[in-house]
Amino acid sequence: MRLLYVIITIILLSAPALAKDKPDAWYPRTEKVAANEMFIVALGTGMPTPITRAQKSTAWYVELGNGDIFLFDVGSGSSENLFALRPDFARVDKAFLSHLHTDHVGDVDALWIGGWLSGRYEPLHIYGPSGSEPELGTEAFVDGLKKAFAWDVRGRSGALPDAGGQLLAHEFDYKQVNDIVYQENGVTITSFPAVHSIDGSVSYRLEWNGLSFVFGGDSYPNKWFIKHAKDADFVIHECFYTAEGLAKLLGWGMRQATYVSSYIHTPASAFGKIMSEVKPRLAVGYHTILEPQSLQLLIEAVRTTYDGPLIIADDLMAWTVTKDSIIQREVVSSERVQPPPTSPEYMKAKRSGEAEYSDFITDGKWEGYTPPPLPNE
Ligand SMILES: [Zn+2]
Ligand SMILES: [Zn+2]
Repeated sequence: MRLLYVIITIILLSAPALAKDKPDAWYPRTEKVAANEMFIVALGTGMPTPITRAQKSTAWYVELGNGDIFLFDVGSGSSENLFALRPDFARVDKAFLSHLHTDHVGDVDALWIGGWLSGRYEPLHIYGPSGSEPELGTEAFVDGLKKAFAWDVRGRSGALPDAGGQLLAHEFDYKQVNDIVYQENGVTITSFPAVHSIDGSVSYRLEWNGLSFVFGGDSYPNKWFIKHAKDADFVIHECFYTAEGLAKLLGWGMRQATYVSSYIHTPASAFGKIMSEVKPRLAVGYHTILEPQSLQLLIEAVRTTYDGPLIIADDLMAWTVTKDSIIQREVVSSERVQPPPTSPEYMKAKRSGEAEYSDFITDGKWEGYTPPPLPNE
């Protein structure tokens, strides 16, 4: 079915920015991101419900030609698609959260522990906004995760690199407008507020090597996005259902459906209006349930207000972005994907002794089994 969506999308959407000098298919670990390229993968483009095998909740992967990897949101289920890329997890060490709904942060735990098991030997850095009260901010979210998974982390200590188990919060003021939240290695990331549910949703703009990527957090159409996403190369914004479509699809009453689609989110026709102002090289819509009829309705609604280059993203669509072209790709990977290899640095990273049992539990070890001797390394 996914191939069908890709074909329908390509046929239905005029996308003059797309060029062809790379194969459509992208196979994990067969291609290096070139020095002048930005490589983007939609890891999750769906909703909080239903999270399906075909469409996970929000997450975006951005790898740059300088070797840096960034995640924008880590929604529920998205870690499956991240692992499908078989990335170098030593470099998957930064995630930027737009807001703290589960469909945007529900797999931070899987990224934290799964990445640690898969090659990350340095801390995982979580960037995200404050809230209107301290307990509603990113720092409180990260503290909560650390408390929730204290048993997990203690249990793995010693077997895994010490530093890889650390989760570090970098909270910034959600009210800041276009201020820098990250600047390293030629990459600058700024944030600006979004209007969604309660205070504390934001959007991001990443600039590197003359290329710009904008990730819109969930939002009612807002003035900051219009201004600060302007003229960027690759601009992602939610493209939500109409109230009628949502009511029909999810069995909701019209009041609930209208509130959700048009007061805390951006329906497709408003997405089109925003993109007509922003004028990106490629407008990317997400936060959808992509069954064929809905996709058709979404596209028709966007086309009432926007006639520029457009993609309604589906999971594991990918793009190679340069100054000259934006090439649409599709990640092709096995259902039972193998873990990526680790590095010599991971093997050598400091480990501080295995966790120990109490005498009570030690005494429960069955004498009928003798483990092999532990090698020195
Ligand atoms: Zn949300
Ligand atoms: Zn959402």
